[in-house]
Amino acid sequence: MSTGAAASVPASASVSAAVAVVGAGPVGLTAALAAHARGLETVLLEARPRDAVRPGSRAVFVHRATLDHLARVDPGLSSEITARGLVWSTRSTLWAGRPVHHRVYPAPSGLVPFTCLAQNEVEDVLRRACDAAGIRTVWGDAVRELEHRPGGVRLRTAAGTAYEAGHVIAADGARSAVRDRAGIELEGSTSETEFVVVDVAGAPDSGAARVFHYRHPAAGGRNVLLVPFRGGWRVDVQCRPGDDARRTAATADRWVPRLLPDVSPVRITWTSVYRFQRRVAARFTDPRHRVLLAGEAAHLLPPFGARGMNSGVVDAVEAARAVAEGTVPRYAAERRAAAIANVRAAGAALDHLLAERRGQRVRQWAAARVAAHRPAAGRWLDAAPYGPTTRTVTY
Ligand SMILES: Cc1cc2nc3c(=O)[nH]c(=O)nc-3n(C[C@H](O)[C@H](O)[C@H](O)COP(=O)(O)OP(=O)(O)OC[C@H]3O[C@@H](n4cnc5c(N)ncnc54)[C@H](O)[C@@H]3O)c2cc1C
Repeated sequence: MSTGAAASVPASASVSAAVAVVGAGPVGLTAALAAHARGLETVLLEARPRDAVRPGSRAVFVHRATLDHLARVDPGLSSEITARGLVWSTRSTLWAGRPVHHRVYPAPSGLVPFTCLAQNEVEDVLRRACDAAGIRTVWGDAVRELEHRPGGVRLRTAAGTAYEAGHVIAADGARSAVRDRAGIELEGSTSETEFVVVDVAGAPDSGAARVFHYRHPAAGGRNVLLVPFRGGWRVDVQCRPGDDARRTAATADRWVPRLLPDVSPVRITWTSVYRFQRRVAARFTDPRHRVLLAGEAAHLLPPFGARGMNSGVVDAVEAARAVAEGTVPRYAAERRAAAIANVRAAGAALDHLLAERRGQRVRQWAAARVAAHRPAAGRWLDAAPYGPTTRTVTY
């Protein structure tokens, strides 16, 4: 176990704080900063050692609204994340290799509309801000137990340290131990369809395009999404029934060069296989309103639409506010409603990508046929893979 800015905590000691944040992913780091900014004494508890590097680009797309939320916590966060990220200016969509939508945006003169960078970069900015703020952070010691006490909660870690806090913000990810100990279930579904994601190292510039391919000819007719971010490209391939996704990922060096013909050499730095998760916690707080779930501890969402980390940052900011203002039940109701709306939007995206009904396939095919002279059809083909826009990510 190691500590961040604070003095080290001996095993078996008892530490008190107004708020204990569990998990130092992007959501926990944001929650700790937001709680601290509201004057709440905060301790941040993380299972990983401080220097453990998490693999892969993961959440590469940071929405404008997320930057605004972070700026309200600490004005420097938004500008630093923006400075580290890439704003691409072109979005294209192709149908079987034929362009159906192409749009070039002017370079932003003021605030950027979004920025793209590896999640580790965002976490690095947030971690440094926690250090600079002097937030007591304990690394390399997982929270194992949760017990309600008069006026709060007691957590106990693997190393045996007890932490007493008025409130706990559980940002300990998809397999949240806090959620589990609080007896809260995750409800929802996981897609059968698998997706293979590959990171390719490189230096795309602002002229690089985000491209969605329906039925990519060089990918055996599979759907493919290419997203440039600072440091590389993200390649996302939708497998077909019967595909061996793990083998596809393991042989990425053979097929990825065909999808990025302008990139040479193609240096693959990470591959992963995922399914569309659409799961929401049955409750975002416990009956005593001492535990608040946030981020992936509260909801699992797929990458398409970039709702996962972005909505988790909103959870974090709102959770700190709820603790400070004594509005935990309202937090739980509003953020759960937001998560359900995001799950529905992700469902619409998946439905479109799978196009299992004949009527859907005909509609998409017809839109591709007329897109050259009906721009609205091309715009629809461009936007639909991400699901409908929801204000719930951002409110
Ligand atoms: C392959 C992949 C691709 C993705 N792509 C996208 C994308 O394109 N867009 C998008 O928005 N999102 C994407 N995501 C999701 C995104 O990574 C998550 O939404 C984000 O990491 C959630 O942040 P979090 O802080 O809630 O959880 P996490 O990042 O999982 O952080 C949880 C933290 O809690 C710690 N922890 C766990 N248990 C304990 C414990 N008992 N005690 C103390 N600490 C604990 C963990 O070590 C971890 O540091 C992707 C994820 C993956 C895996």
